[in-house]
Amino acid sequence: MEKWVYTFGSGKAEGSARDVTRLGGKGANLAEMAAIGLPVPPGLTVVSDACVYFLKNNALPEGLRDEILAGIATIEAETGKRFGDAANPLLLSVRSGARSSMPGMMDTVLNLGLNDQTVQGLGHSAEDARFAFDSYRRFIQMYGDVVLGLDHAIFEDILDDAKARFGHENDTDLSASEWQEVIRLYKALIEEELGEPFPQDPMVQLAGAVGAVFSSWMSARAVTYRQLHNIPGHWGTAVNIQAMVFGNLGSGSATGVAFTRNPSTGEKTLYGEFLVNAQGEDVVAGIRTPQALTEKARIEQGHDRPSLEKLMPEAFAELTAICDRLEAHYCDMQDVEFTIERGALWMLQTRAGKRSTRAALKIAVDMVDEGLIAEEEAVSRIEPASLDQLLHPTIDPRVARQVIGSGLPASPGAATGEIVFTSEEAMAAEQEGRKVILVRMETSPEDIHGMNAAEGILTTRGGMTSHAAVVARGMGIPCVTGAGNMRVDQRNGLLLGLGVKLKKGDLITIDGSSGQALKGAVPMVQPELSGDFARLMDWADKARRMTVRTNADTPADARAARAFGAEGIGLCRTEHMFFEGERIHVMREMILAEDEAGRRAALDRLLPMQRSDFTELFTIMHGQPVTIRLLDPPLHEFLPKTEEEIADVAAAMGLLPRQLSQRVEALHEFNPMLGHRGCRLAISYPEIAEMQARAIFEAAVAAARETGAPVEPEIMVPLVGLRSELDYVKACIEKVASAVMREAGLTITYLVGTMIELPRAALRAHVIAEAAEFFSFGTNDLTQTTFGISRDDAAAFIPTYQRKGIIERDPFISLDFDGVGELIRIAAERGRQTRPEMKLGICGEHGGDPASIHFCEDVGLDYVSCSPFRVPIARLSAAQASILQRRETGKS
Ligand code: PEP
Ligand code: MG
Repeated sequence: MEKWVYTFGSGKAEGSARDVTRLGGKGANLAEMAAIGLPVPPGLTVVSDACVYFLKNNALPEGLRDEILAGIATIEAETGKRFGDAANPLLLSVRSGARSSMPGMMDTVLNLGLNDQTVQGLGHSAEDARFAFDSYRRFIQMYGDVVLGLDHAIFEDILDDAKARFGHENDTDLSASEWQEVIRLYKALIEEELGEPFPQDPMVQLAGAVGAVFSSWMSARAVTYRQLHNIPGHWGTAVNIQAMVFGNLGSGSATGVAFTRNPSTGEKTLYGEFLVNAQGEDVVAGIRTPQALTEKARIEQGHDRPSLEKLMPEAFAELTAICDRLEAHYCDMQDVEFTIERGALWMLQTRAGKRSTRAALKIAVDMVDEGLIAEEEAVSRIEPASLDQLLHPTIDPRVARQVIGSGLPASPGAATGEIVFTSEEAMAAEQEGRKVILVRMETSPEDIHGMNAAEGILTTRGGMTSHAAVVARGMGIPCVTGAGNMRVDQRNGLLLGLGVKLKKGDLITIDGSSGQALKGAVPMVQPELSGDFARLMDWADKARRMTVRTNADTPADARAARAFGAEGIGLCRTEHMFFEGERIHVMREMILAEDEAGRRAALDRLLPMQRSDFTELFTIMHGQPVTIRLLDPPLHEFLPKTEEEIADVAAAMGLLPRQLSQRVEALHEFNPMLGHRGCRLAISYPEIAEMQARAIFEAAVAAARETGAPVEPEIMVPLVGLRSELDYVKACIEKVASAVMREAGLTITYLVGTMIELPRAALRAHVIAEAAEFFSFGTNDLTQTTFGISRDDAAAFIPTYQRKGIIERDPFISLDFDGVGELIRIAAERGRQTRPEMKLGICGEHGGDPASIHFCEDVGLDYVSCSPFRVPIARLSAAQASILQRRETGKS
């Protein structure tokens, strides 16, 4: 038979902290605290399965009532009070408590058990009577709202009228008889509204309250909260029924909350606040200003009212001892609720406390030093994505945000600046030392300088792998893309946002971590890579199996990535190396050349540039592996668009603008992402691959001579679907390799591999592996081609898909394990069938996404590669994935 109720009381409990699934977080921890002998008001927890039953059958399960009655009998035995007794009544609190904390989302009823008789039994002094009637009216008000469904504002109106009539300003001024009058009015209101009197039978009250708490699992706000936090709807909530303790019994009573360490700095000191003569709800309501717990905090915060430490030293000492005990017991920072009833301390809740990233790091590292947890446990406790908070300036969480638009969180961090609409304006502003946000419909390669000069980038179109997003992430510049609720009116120089019309020069702030655009300048918190960060990352590095490389196209990227701990370059997108200076023009000349001679002329000018770039990259990476990908330019990103650009390129090529326009038109593709790019370009124009191979090998020779640490270049061929494609390009590379080695009189070890970014390549991996010496999963294209969803157009409908529950996560951000992941598994397995030792990595954007990194560990990839600013996140995620894997397989 199912057990619905678990009791707890002094020194004993039927449940424990391990029973979170059935008892909810609150119930499980109340049981645990009671069992270890902490002062917990006795009570019982109704399991969450009862909620599931109730919601399905609209009735409480059979047997529950009897179990609750038996549980109440144990509470009565412990307190010496009786539920419903007129002389010495037991009052109960009824609170929700789900498996995962949902603060404030569900309902609570306090002071349950009061009625016209029991209210008389609460005490006989004038002060007790005042308290008794105040409690009774609070109960009617709460019950009326939560259980009977009446708007709490109508009770407030009655109270306000009464106060005005009696000439009082505060609730605390009302006398017992005045409260009795309010109670009479409340009860009359209920009877009038519902046609039934307020229930006097305590068991009826209790059944009503339990049902209401169960029902509040389905309240609109609870449903929304669950959606936002990925909490399944089928869990249901447990209900905790507990003897009431009162923090509002005069000046010797109080209620408060405490963190066992400071949740924003991590400092090991009790941190929290309390109110004298108050109930928990008064703290939440925020009407009165709470006081500090410790003298130290009181002084720091400049409060003039005394701390708990000063006011109630004995209760404070007991609270401190209990907090120490809880930390030692749970081995984690706790967030507790307590009440002091006439000097006696009662613990009402404990749970792992929420904390800032900075605090999380400090607490984890300190706890290792204190011998509370092991290094690997410390590594497991930090949320990898939260490291973003440390690597970029972020918006001060204490300030209010005026959101004027929202899009995708394309590149983390926050930035403030004046609005500019063109790259030229951004560069001019940089020269003058002004900070700007570059606002565009979308960006293209010629915006690179403007992007570099800007503090942040905002586009109204494009997705997470759009040009703006990829480039900004690489540069570590905050970026919001696809802000569809904003419009750029280029002609009039306006940015139209939610309820605002902004012009060039107006200040905005973008938050690349949330995807929001905000009006004006907003205070920021600056990054701080403290010693705790370095120590924890060291432990993470020891724990992980996969290596972490970076996607870097420039020396600046490579240096930044090394500083963040990258162990090689997993992807150098060579087309990105042509954004700088005059290079874009030469690159365009090469793409637009009519014939091989024209192309070779441009390539001859590109060769020295590439060679010096590669030499610098190899030198910076100092013997670490460097994967260079042959040119893979989606043509639409590189063709000149405006008349001005066409005129410029035409002049450089000695053509008339009209002639060039015709050429551009001839190159126009309907779907450039699936067009003449990747290895298709190298097959059409092998001279491009030859030039790149020569630049790579000559650079390898130069860098080896300079550093004495020879690099082993890994040359990667993009967008391969057929083995014959790879064979063709590989032959070009090998020919050049032999020539350069002959010329230099030196042997260079190198690898030629391919990206796996087309479903056909994944399926034919065993055949492709005959030619490929390594695979790198290009999951941006693999996602695009597996789903048949254009990377550049996905942002138009993916959010709708998510809102409507069609998909849970954007597959361009977090790997689709079932589909794209299946192809990766197949390719890894088949590739290794042919070439067991082959290196496997990932270089799509997913290489920096924690969930995707766990998948990569599972598939047995050798490395992940991501943009420089994500390297620490990837190091930590890879470590957590390894630790989890070891725990699951039982290997140490
Ligand atoms: C990919 O497709 O995942 C990839 C890394 O290449 P790109 O984003 O440059 O197409
Ligand atoms: Mg690709």
